[in-house]
Amino acid sequence: MKYTPRQLSYAQYLLRRMGFQNSKDIDLYLQQLLLSKGRYHFNPKAKNPFKAWQFSAKAGIDALVSEMELKKTPAKIPLLRSQLSHFTATQLARYSFCPAAFSISHTFETVIDAGDRPIAMGEQLHESLRLSQQKQKSGATTDPFYRRAWQNPAIAKILRAEAVYTGHGANAPLFNNEKTGFVGSPDYIFRDREGVYFLVEEKFLHYRDPMNPSAAKLNKEEWAGTLASKNQERQEEWAKIPFYFFKNHLIQVLAYLANICAYPLQYGYLVYWLYDFKDGEVYVHKAGVKKLSLDPENFALYQQYLGQFQQFLQRGVEAFDVERVNVKKCAACSQSPYCMHKTRRFDEVNYPYRKEDIRLYPAEFPGSLRQVY
Ligand code: SF4
Repeated sequence: MKYTPRQLSYAQYLLRRMGFQNSKDIDLYLQQLLLSKGRYHFNPKAKNPFKAWQFSAKAGIDALVSEMELKKTPAKIPLLRSQLSHFTATQLARYSFCPAAFSISHTFETVIDAGDRPIAMGEQLHESLRLSQQKQKSGATTDPFYRRAWQNPAIAKILRAEAVYTGHGANAPLFNNEKTGFVGSPDYIFRDREGVYFLVEEKFLHYRDPMNPSAAKLNKEEWAGTLASKNQERQEEWAKIPFYFFKNHLIQVLAYLANICAYPLQYGYLVYWLYDFKDGEVYVHKAGVKKLSLDPENFALYQQYLGQFQQFLQRGVEAFDVERVNVKKCAACSQSPYCMHKTRRFDEVNYPYRKEDIRLYPAEFPGSLRQVY
């Protein structure tokens, strides 16, 4: 962990004020917070500026302080005015990610910036690296990553197919299904050379590239003259690691397949692009694709989540299994600043989310910090 002892004491205190009860949860939450809210610092005076970059814990502490301020006066959090008249694939995906996350995002207007760098970066990458951009330059680029990625048969197929629908941008038309109450827009719909229609949903995820080791490792390996061979080893290992596709993303693709009738969709591709940073620039270092169709197993999975989701909307309450809380996931969750369920104190979740549950708890302020904060 890169917190100073004082920062660590203060951050632990803030989490206890927010309701966290056990030290293991607090440690895991803070580790993840450092990764998801930390920033690289660039020192232009350093001999080799790239190697001088390092994470800072300050952004994580700032996020905790903002959260505590918000939870001091929950009555002031503005409520969303609009009611849900349709359901979207994104809502269902969020519900399957966590019912509390769905409830919060459809109860409150966002008043504090969750500092969700991965989501913001994902959106930016969507614009510059999305498949439609790659499609335009697929003949021209010499970037070895894309040359390798395009050897993936699914990606090659997408690049050869004709885009008949692009769902990005303010003017992208939405698909409605009056029978099911669905409305939504996937990233793309393509028609392949045989006339088969399929959809594609792209996700950009921040993962550390093992070819981009820490400054300490980099220096050590440079000194020993082993950097090139170590990088080769890392790249081979990295290529062998299989992808894990998150259930909420799978549900999103299945929801499009189940509800879009305007095209005879036969299957969908979920495409993951893993990105990292080098010399101040963001780049993609691994690509993975999962093909999904509405076979009986996938349809049953979709129906199961849809049924639970509809019941939750209707009843306004469901059981919340505190044992399933994953505090690392919570530290990176965009709804975390509003959430009380991450503390494992609540065994029910309501829709709309209950303002009455948002509060602070008593905790002893660390004596060693009295002069500082
Ligand atoms: S912080 Fe955790 S429990 Fe709360 S909404 Fe997010 S994932 Fe769910």
